[in-house]
Amino acid sequence: MAICAIRGCSSNQKKKDPDIKFHRFPENEELRSKWIQLCNHKDPINVKNARVCSLHFEPTAYKRHLKYELLNLPLPKRLNVLNDDAVPTQRIAALKSKFITGMVQV
Ligand SMILES: [Zn+2]
Repeated sequence: MAICAIRGCSSNQKKKDPDIKFHRFPENEELRSKWIQLCNHKDPINVKNARVCSLHFEPTAYKRHLKYELLNLPLPKRLNVLNDDAVPTQRIAALKSKFITGMVQV
């Protein structure tokens, strides 16, 4: 079972929720280090295995598919992907820390 790398995330305790997706860490190094900081873990994160769950992303962080939006169709799972520059901004305990507040708008 996938575990969310964000410290204190509730989706790790809950039973498996089909609506929650788990996202891999981005390839881009700069972006990836932002994600790692937002996870707020003392121990290093193994980004190859780590995942961040969809609870931490706003709807706008996902790629848009106008065809589905216009036709009001449910988006197939394979198309439900994050933008290339998406960062987790929701339900992040680390947002309270000084370091992070400058980086992400609350
Ligand atoms: Zn999570």
